[in-house]
Amino acid sequence: MAADYMALCPECGKHLVRVHRHRLERLVYSDVYRCHKCGFRSAQVNRFLGFDLRAIFSRYTHCTRCGTEFVKRIGRRDKIDFRSMHPLSWIQGLLFAPLNKCEACRLQYHDWRPLSPKARGH
Ligand SMILES: [Zn+2]
Ligand SMILES: [Zn+2]
Repeated sequence: MAADYMALCPECGKHLVRVHRHRLERLVYSDVYRCHKCGFRSAQVNRFLGFDLRAIFSRYTHCTRCGTEFVKRIGRRDKIDFRSMHPLSWIQGLLFAPLNKCEACRLQYHDWRPLSPKARGH
């Protein structure tokens, strides 16, 4: 069925395939796609949330404000620093995604993606 894949993976060029959503993901996403080769994820956010957003997940997490990959996982929120109001971040916050902190601009945001190898060796 043509609707079972929507695009080629931007990272490795394989077809993205629709994957099963977790119970919580079903509340937020109408469709989730994944590349079986490299793990790239893409999701269509449900329209009832008030906006039509295609969430793109590349392999590693990047700061949603300045784009750097030098971020670290933090256990709990640091009240002093600014927290992202990016819709992708609060949606993932609803899904209990881990909290990350950007080392460059100090933004805190939620993301499931692993840290990049460069950030881990930092
Ligand atoms: Zn891929
Ligand atoms: Zn940043």
